[in-house]
Amino acid sequence: MADFQSIIDDIHQQIIAQKNYGEVAGYIPELSDIDPEKFGVSLITVNGVCYQAGDSQDLFSLQSIVKVLLLSMAYTRLGGRLWQRVGVEPSGTPFNSLGTLEYDQGIPRNPFSNAGAIVVCDVLLDLYENPRQALLDMVRRLADDDTIQYDPAVAASEKAEGYRNVALANFVRSLGNIHNDVDAVLALYFDCCSIAINTEQLCRLFLVFANNGQTLDEHYQLLNVSQTKRMNAIMLTCGFYDEAGDFAYQVGLPGKSGVGGGIVAVLPGHFSIAVWSPRLNEKGNSFRGLQFLEQFTTKTQLSIF
Ligand code: GLN
Repeated sequence: MADFQSIIDDIHQQIIAQKNYGEVAGYIPELSDIDPEKFGVSLITVNGVCYQAGDSQDLFSLQSIVKVLLLSMAYTRLGGRLWQRVGVEPSGTPFNSLGTLEYDQGIPRNPFSNAGAIVVCDVLLDLYENPRQALLDMVRRLADDDTIQYDPAVAASEKAEGYRNVALANFVRSLGNIHNDVDAVLALYFDCCSIAINTEQLCRLFLVFANNGQTLDEHYQLLNVSQTKRMNAIMLTCGFYDEAGDFAYQVGLPGKSGVGGGIVAVLPGHFSIAVWSPRLNEKGNSFRGLQFLEQFTTKTQLSIF
């Protein structure tokens, strides 16, 4: 195995020296208070060895990364029937796009767009008596960490300003693909996005996707091997919206980003890696996060390709 610690330290130091790149997400007011220079990295292997650099213990907002977990909750209960409500095709559109919804008759192209994740939240309201608790239980169990919490201030801030998501949800509802009260669906979506996490916890959480759907201690099988393959395929093709092709090209790992500045990626059978830096590029993905991962897979020659 490569000397992960020195490679991570080298890339971290090199990237941190560069200034003037990207902007912190401002459309969720609470997120704009974060120190834009924060930069943390964690990597955990399927043997349980952990490597860290920088602000790996600082909490940030999970945001769209939670869409992978929401999808897992719906997929494990419904299996392939879920694909009647949301597709698995890359959209080539921004995360908050209304773009193809009318043409697609309210079936979002994939579950990692906002529209897709909002439909998944509608599904979860039907499947789980208390989906917020079920999500938190799952996150804490996968990350083996009972301290992980929702951040009510971030959720309230997005609820107050989330006009685009309100429009998306109402539009999908008008096309018949949301069945519950729109406000209840959106409240669930905003709450789920608000989970506070650090890169080490995020790595632990996503190790399941590098480990055939199972926690390292083998006590919890979230997904079977085939379902894990499919989740990783959706992350690879849809995890970065209209930058998914570029991420596959530059980095070559299944992964997911969020506007909190986090990115998590996995090399199945080997490791999960999480990077957090709040400044985003114009596609809403962490600027330094992308740079870091591109250099990491290039230097180590470890990617799915
Ligand atoms: N909560 C955010 C939103 O709906 C999530 C977007 C993201 O992280 N890309 O806008």
